Amino acid sequence: VKKNPNETEFHQAVREVLESIDPVAEKHPEWVSAGIFSRIVEPERQIMFRVSWVDDSGKVQVNRGFRVQFNSAIGPYKGGLRFHPSVNLGIIKFLGFEQIFKNSLTSLPIGGGKGGCDFDPKGKSDGEIMRFCQSFMCELSKHIGADTDVPAGDIGVGGREIGYMYGMYKRLRNEFTGILTGKGLAYGGSLARTEATGYGLCYFMEEALNAKGKSFKGATVTISGSGNVSIYAAEKVQQLGGKIVAMSDSNGYIFDPAGINLDTVKQIKEVDRLRINKYVESHPTATYKDGCADIWSVKCDIALPCATQNELDGQAAQTLVANGCYAVGEGANMPSTPEAVNLFIDKKVVFGPAKAANAGGVATSALEMSQNSMRYSWSFEEVDAKLKDIMINIYKNASEAAKEYGQEDNLVVGANIAGFIKVATAMYAQGIAY
Ligand code: NDP
Repeated sequence: VKKNPNETEFHQAVREVLESIDPVAEKHPEWVSAGIFSRIVEPERQIMFRVSWVDDSGKVQVNRGFRVQFNSAIGPYKGGLRFHPSVNLGIIKFLGFEQIFKNSLTSLPIGGGKGGCDFDPKGKSDGEIMRFCQSFMCELSKHIGADTDVPAGDIGVGGREIGYMYGMYKRLRNEFTGILTGKGLAYGGSLARTEATGYGLCYFMEEALNAKGKSFKGATVTISGSGNVSIYAAEKVQQLGGKIVAMSDSNGYIFDPAGINLDTVKQIKEVDRLRINKYVESHPTATYKDGCADIWSVKCDIALPCATQNELDGQAAQTLVANGCYAVGEGANMPSTPEAVNLFIDKKVVFGPAKAANAGGVATSALEMSQNSMRYSWSFEEVDAKLKDIMINIYKNASEAAKEYGQEDNLVVGANIAGFIKVATAMYAQGIAY
């Protein structure tokens, strides 16, 4: 805490992991003496840079960019870029730290990293977004590479932004390589990448629910957010026979007891880039309320928080449980506060922690890297089948690790331990490289 002042989210993420892996330290004193535990919490490299660009009125704007290259023990750094005004070093470090274990859980060769900028894409014109992305890439291009560090999207960074950044990289370097994932299908993207995080979340949760004799079929489901993860989680929930009753954006939430019409949500958020309150104009059974945090007061069987960190607190968790919610799957990164997580574990709620449950996005990004290296692309069905296998495997590994360490059904502990062991083994084998 002294060494990294004001990095609250980073402290929260580190505390959770270190508490979970305590029993591993007892089994592996050689890792303790090799300094693995103190090395793993220090990024290998963190880069902060000025991003200046010119807005539509001709005014110069200045933002701060970040790339934290956290751990490369098992592969090139891999993790998204977030464009949101709340971005600061502590948030990027928390996301990069979590990414190490998540990437390890996918069983694919990818290290952990994360980046972003305090730029606010809301209300910006297409030209402003492009000029900003180009300026951001001017500096980022010096630090990434297909075998070094391969960023992807996150909040505020979707296909459009990845396209602008990729174009600038190509212009600067005169090379066509897989330095970003989440690319468009016309220039090296992978089928099913857009759907991957949301679909993967549902594959993971379906496996966890099945283990308890339950499933999405016939269940009512609340999903927070209405961005990339939320929309494709909603699509898969519907395919699996569940009914979505509520969704949100950062202003408020919609409740539709008849079941949310996803085509309308996609049109509003993906095409028109408008606010979710628009939904009620074409759906008379639906109501809209200001205040996104109140979405957890809606009665549901399964909750999928897919918006942002710490969006579901202890109070919200109590309300969910009191209303009969029996499963929570984290699509966003660290959406539940520690109080909420503890309550879910205590109350035996089927709880899929982010690191494990939302790893489908990065896993499919790694599949995009493989396809780029081969200069070849797989069909949607092939990628989706691989994604499903990966998610089922993550569930198995996390639940087996939980059992082995005497914490049966605690997937938080299981995911942290399973993710950590592979990275620690690699770091130990590589000596004191950093
Ligand atoms: P998007 O930008 O596509 O969507 C984010 C959604 O969350 C929007 O609906 C946004 O509302 C809402 N939101 C953002 N900030 C807040 C806030 N402070 N309070 C309430 N709602 C908010 O991002 P993604 O869907 O890509 O990412 C969502 C989460 O999933 C993040 O935690 C991200 O790190 C995580 N994640 C994403 C992956 C991916 O592949 N995209 C992979 C793994 C994790 P509004 O429209 O009003 O801004």
